[in-house]
Amino acid sequence: MSSEQTATVAFIGLGNMGAPMAANLIKAGYKLTVYDRVESVMADVVEQGASAADSATAAVERADIVFSMLPAGQHVRELYLGADDNGDGILACIGDDTLIIDCSTIDAETARLVAGRAAERGLTMLDAPVSGGVNGARAGGLTFMVGGDAAGLERARPLLDVMGKAVFHAGEAGAGQVGKMCNNMLLGILMTGTSEAINLAVANGLDPAVISEIMKNASGGNWALNVYNPYPGVMDTAPASNDYKPGFGVDLMLKDLGLAMDSSLKNGVSTPLGSMARSLYSVHSRSGSGARDFSSILELLHGKPAG
Ligand code: NAD
Repeated sequence: MSSEQTATVAFIGLGNMGAPMAANLIKAGYKLTVYDRVESVMADVVEQGASAADSATAAVERADIVFSMLPAGQHVRELYLGADDNGDGILACIGDDTLIIDCSTIDAETARLVAGRAAERGLTMLDAPVSGGVNGARAGGLTFMVGGDAAGLERARPLLDVMGKAVFHAGEAGAGQVGKMCNNMLLGILMTGTSEAINLAVANGLDPAVISEIMKNASGGNWALNVYNPYPGVMDTAPASNDYKPGFGVDLMLKDLGLAMDSSLKNGVSTPLGSMARSLYSVHSRSGSGARDFSSILELLHGKPAG
């Protein structure tokens, strides 16, 4: 048992990703206090041994390490700094030696802003967004992309190792978010392209499982084909085989592609495929699929339910 396992951990945000990540920390022996603004989503981790707090402030009061796993930048800003940065956020109540680790996927500017405010209080805050999806979170197989202080990362590492299989130090505060934004732009493009290719093969009479196996082992191979096949029935564990229940929601992918487009405009970088993927996910969301898994982009391209 590592010495950090005596650490008290607060975990805020127990949605599709946060709940299995917190569960792995409990299994590894950490003492967790959890909070989500939707009370019912805490039930699973409480059953596994976590204590439920009735506010975010109560959750962090005695924590040595604080994790957050929230949807977007505005949630992270509000949690730590309060509504309209009014100072009502949890940053004011976090103990002096506490390490803060935000695993949400948010814009790098917000990550830098909140880490800067933490630094003004003498606190270290890391941005540590993840890749690997819900199955990766359940299996402790996430990839962490970390921005912030190297010593802070070494303190976080034993806990990140419990939840993940790889940890990369991308650079200073916000750098983890830049890594995640670029990765997810590529993922949106790859999922769309993979869906197009499978649809075309099926229209030509191929079995979707056969074309998937061919491309997986040929030069078109990619993560979507390996672990997240978008065609229903090809891969039992993929959301496509579970009525496109997330998983990773269309609206979260749309948010990430929006972050990439904002950054491409600010930096004058051409990202035409990222822009096309964002437009497709926007149409998909507006047509009522925002809460479905992002691999359901296959159905938008197909024009009707596949399978
Ligand atoms: P989710 O919507 O399932 O969960 C987010 C949780 O945060 C919800 O339970 C919500 O009630 C809670 N929450 C929001 N604001 C809060 C607040 N102020 N205080 C307490 N709780 C609050 O989202 P998710 O799929 O778990 O994703 C979380 C983050 O991880 C997102 O930034 C997403 O982009 C990223 N991510 C998701 C996946 C995936 O496959 N789902 C993969 C990698 C990264």
